[in-house]
Amino acid sequence: MTESAPRRLSQLATISVAELKNVGDRRRESLASIGIETIFDLLTVYPRRHVDRTRQVDLSDLTIGEEVAIFARVDRSSSRRTKQGRSMVELVVSDTGGSMSVVFFNQPWRDKQLPVGTQALFFGKVTDYRGRRQMSNPVVDVLVGVGGIERDPSRVGRVVPIYPASGKAGLTSWEMGGFIEESLRRAGAFLDPVPDAVLDELDLIDRTSAFRGIHLPEEYADITVARRRLVFDEFLRLQLLLVLRRQRLEETEAGVAHDVDVSDLDVTPGSLSSSDSSLVRRFLAQHRFALTGAQRRVLREIFTDLASPRPMHRLLQGDVGSGKTTVALASMLAVLSSGRQSALMAPTEVLAEQHASGLRRDLGDLRRPDPHVLGGERPLNVQLLTGRLRAKERAAVLEGLATGAVDIVVGTHALLTEDVRFDALGLVVIDEQHRFGVEQRAVLRDKGRGASRDAIDPDVLVMTATPIPRTAALVLFGDLDLSIIDELPAGREPIATTWCREPEEVAEVWAHVRAEAAAGRRSFVVCPLVEGSERVEATSAVEERDRLVAHELAGLRVGLLHGQMKGPDKDAVMDDFRSGALDVLVATVVIEVGVDVPEATVMVIEDAWRFGLAQLHQLRGRVGRGSAASSCYLLGEPTTEDGTARLEALVGSHDGFVLAEEDLRLRGEGTLLGARQRGRSDLKLAQLLRDGDLLVDARRVATDLVTEHGASGLSADLVDELRLFVDDDEADFLFKS
Ligand code: ADP
Ligand code: MG
Repeated sequence: MTESAPRRLSQLATISVAELKNVGDRRRESLASIGIETIFDLLTVYPRRHVDRTRQVDLSDLTIGEEVAIFARVDRSSSRRTKQGRSMVELVVSDTGGSMSVVFFNQPWRDKQLPVGTQALFFGKVTDYRGRRQMSNPVVDVLVGVGGIERDPSRVGRVVPIYPASGKAGLTSWEMGGFIEESLRRAGAFLDPVPDAVLDELDLIDRTSAFRGIHLPEEYADITVARRRLVFDEFLRLQLLLVLRRQRLEETEAGVAHDVDVSDLDVTPGSLSSSDSSLVRRFLAQHRFALTGAQRRVLREIFTDLASPRPMHRLLQGDVGSGKTTVALASMLAVLSSGRQSALMAPTEVLAEQHASGLRRDLGDLRRPDPHVLGGERPLNVQLLTGRLRAKERAAVLEGLATGAVDIVVGTHALLTEDVRFDALGLVVIDEQHRFGVEQRAVLRDKGRGASRDAIDPDVLVMTATPIPRTAALVLFGDLDLSIIDELPAGREPIATTWCREPEEVAEVWAHVRAEAAAGRRSFVVCPLVEGSERVEATSAVEERDRLVAHELAGLRVGLLHGQMKGPDKDAVMDDFRSGALDVLVATVVIEVGVDVPEATVMVIEDAWRFGLAQLHQLRGRVGRGSAASSCYLLGEPTTEDGTARLEALVGSHDGFVLAEEDLRLRGEGTLLGARQRGRSDLKLAQLLRDGDLLVDARRVATDLVTEHGASGLSADLVDELRLFVDDDEADFLFKS
């Protein structure tokens, strides 16, 4: 490594850690075992935390119960086994102010790590054990070995970075720090691929200072600004890749500009009588209700996409009950106006059937132009395609799709089979997209070019009622445009949510269910999640229904719905519940998504704390869909802290987006982002909750850079850096000119 020319990250990624002074074969292997092979890998191992030695506590002023860092020397050390057979290493450590005991359970190797004479930082909570101050299982950073070999004095300065030590690889934080420090020193200055104007605007420091600031801070304040710059870089790279991918897709796609008119959306019910205007106008004029402001806004976004020749890739997020189906329907009609078909895919048969019958109802007697028939018009043709159709029915639907006699098809996975072909597929709508994989989305989209007579790439709209925070959406679905319905239809009463813990409260719940039934309204009872198979869960739902019928709900008409039932049986039960032939539906979580029964006003969730927060919010969303006041009752006593937190969150908010943020906080972003992490995952420092603003900035900068210059116009330095984070195939797709 020479020290003159500024370093690119890509260069550092070609230099092996073996180049470092203290790294021989053994260390190289240890580092490799935790994924660190190059200088670049090392420099992006960030400190787990920093310890401000100026704020370090003295043993003379310890407070019991406090978490502190103590720099002390090991005076005595012994190891033994406890009565339960656990290994225990016990130390007495001291500084000038006094002494305390430190114990480690099940960490026999501490014995060798911390011989008498070692000086180390111990972090942990101070407790009182039989009148003596003690820390058990503290985090340890050895600063001065037995021989008194001082670590580089600059590193034992005021702010000490603590790296993730690896017991398995036999690497201490101290050693990691040493390697990183040497790497930094020898790397010298870093090349900075981010334009100065961007750095100025966002008040970000240069890259060289950032790497130094996080690894070798002079003072605490250095860390914050350093971190901010490095986090921005992580986000910028990710967003550049997403925006580029998106642009590449558009270049390689053959879309079509549908003949839609955004001003059609201004029509309100009853405001129009002429029958010769567009389908969208006629639909809105005859509709049961006026669009909400939010529905109108997202439809404008969608119509603008439809009118453009590039295919739409849009994610529509809207809380449960916000009216996404109407948005989908208006979009399908717009596409139909230019003579193209639409396909709506739902995750379950119950939902597909509900959508099909809802669409037929909402379309009423709308007619579409048809030059082949007398009078030039015919009724709209909506068909259902699920795995349950008999061969003959199925053949008829397939025939209609291929000839263009069917305008809208609603279905399940059955839409994806090879024999489904279209005349002219113009729009694909996917409901509850989290239930489908990316590949299934692609299969349906490819029906446009691959299985349609007119071979275009259809527009794609994916809908979800499981809101994810906007920041998470930018990371997870950054290659989709985002529309959000952030308003519920007027007149909805909030759903009164109560967490019932006492037997008397639970008794009132059942009394309420009975009262609603007497008034002609309906209730759901959701059975506890049961570990094991769907069969076990079904059995327990059957038992619960029987128990309720025998006791709390005696005399009511109570139906049962679970995942093990046959399709037609499920339909029959849903029909009975919809029509009012049943008062109560006892169900497993199969009813979680989408089911729309406006007369249902009570949702009882047993052992509610076992469900995830998003799931609970979905379940609650099954009621409150009509104008009557609705209630949601959460039963059960949580056995976990998180369970309690989820129930409190649900009682405290009705807003799916607020709950999604809370869910992110409770579960951590690991679970959420897990699916996305592949290849060389680049979000090492960034945290969505903490750094959301920077992410939004990075998105904007990425979009500006790409639209300004196009892929080929990005600076060579940036492209060079991005290549580090994608595999060869992806790089070819993104960067070849
Ligand atoms: P989502 O799929 O977003 O959960 P739906 O599309 O099922 O919501 O709509 C929920 C309920 O609200 C349905 O009964 C629907 O008919 C009704 N609805 C939708 N849009 C409106 C509106 N603008 N005004 C009044 N009711 C509406
Ligand atoms: Mg829906």
